[in-house]
Amino acid sequence: MPELVLVNAGELVTCAGGGDGDQEALGVIEDGALMVDGGRISWIGTSKELGRKTFGKPRRTMDARGGLVTPGFVDPHTHLVFAGSREDELDRKTRGESYVSILSSGGGIQRTVRDTRKATAREICAQSLARVEQMVANGVTTVETKTGYGQRARDELKMIQAIELLRKATKIDVVSTFLGLHAKPPEFDDSGEYVDYAIREMLPLVARSQARPAFSDCFCEEGIFSRGDCARYLRASRELGFSLKIHADEFADSRGASLAAESGCVSADHIGHSGPAGIESMAEKGVVAVLLPGTSLYSSISYADAKGIIRAGCSVALGTDLSPNSWIESPQFVMGLACAGLKMTPAQALLGFTANAAKAISRADVGSLRLGNSADFVVHSLTGYRQLPYRLGGSYVRKVIKEGREVYSREV
Ligand SMILES: [Zn+2]
Repeated sequence: MPELVLVNAGELVTCAGGGDGDQEALGVIEDGALMVDGGRISWIGTSKELGRKTFGKPRRTMDARGGLVTPGFVDPHTHLVFAGSREDELDRKTRGESYVSILSSGGGIQRTVRDTRKATAREICAQSLARVEQMVANGVTTVETKTGYGQRARDELKMIQAIELLRKATKIDVVSTFLGLHAKPPEFDDSGEYVDYAIREMLPLVARSQARPAFSDCFCEEGIFSRGDCARYLRASRELGFSLKIHADEFADSRGASLAAESGCVSADHIGHSGPAGIESMAEKGVVAVLLPGTSLYSSISYADAKGIIRAGCSVALGTDLSPNSWIESPQFVMGLACAGLKMTPAQALLGFTANAAKAISRADVGSLRLGNSADFVVHSLTGYRQLPYRLGGSYVRKVIKEGREVYSREV
């Protein structure tokens, strides 16, 4: 007896075809249907085929009423765990003030560090949970989030604890990353000294913490953390058994992309200014490129060369990069930016938030609807996947299912 049967999906997009481009890679089934057992997908096909199949009475039947059904969205890059808000800085930015000027007057990331240090783990969790719930309403069933606003041992551990509380409070998957090198905190004059501290003091403590994050991450950018400092941080992280990620080449080519390949990173994120040699080395080593066009929009920096990166052979994932700087809770909005700004196709944009995003967090069981995978899917009121990046600004999510259980529902 199946626990759930879904019928009448106008388009059931499995994202299980592999590849980065065309409709075949998306694995589109018209008039699709699927079955769920034990929280996993146990059958997939057309509604017609389902009608000819013999099975016991399902515990629940869900009628998609001709709507689009996609895998639950996977957001592989966020900084959603933090305290406070910086909405007033948008005023200043619109008056032409630069990020550096806002930062030097005590704003920007250092303001979030102050707010996060002042808050308790429970307070941080409560504020972050509201954001996660908004993301669930937008179809997200797996989300990655980073630390990096503590910037000293006790506050980074507190952030890890807040992520653990969040994991328990929400019904979706939360993947945690220790962002040991985010920005130099005010206590240190020299970024190299802070890197020494992160390697010597923070990494071992984080590695031993009860809710140990899966990934370790750093920000490789001239003027923030040098390639050499990031190389030794990543080496130390790997020795402690962390999987690796890197923020690379967001503002200029700091050869972060090639460092990602040399260090064995699972993903290199941003890479808006990486040179062709770096991109090629990533493709060779299978490093997933995570592009964050929302941040390009908010920070007025150029978009990554997505077409070139795809041509080089990298898998391209997309993330919201939800943070106090670019407070974006909607994958659909970012898919729109991916098409408008990065010139990705609608199919590539959808793969970016599903199958390729799952690769960016080393999860084969989510991001695609295939037999045995977690039954994570979204029923939309939109009728085709091309409408996802095309119709922006509305709410088109009818139901969100995580491991076969409904975690969100709204009549639209
Ligand atoms: Zn980031």
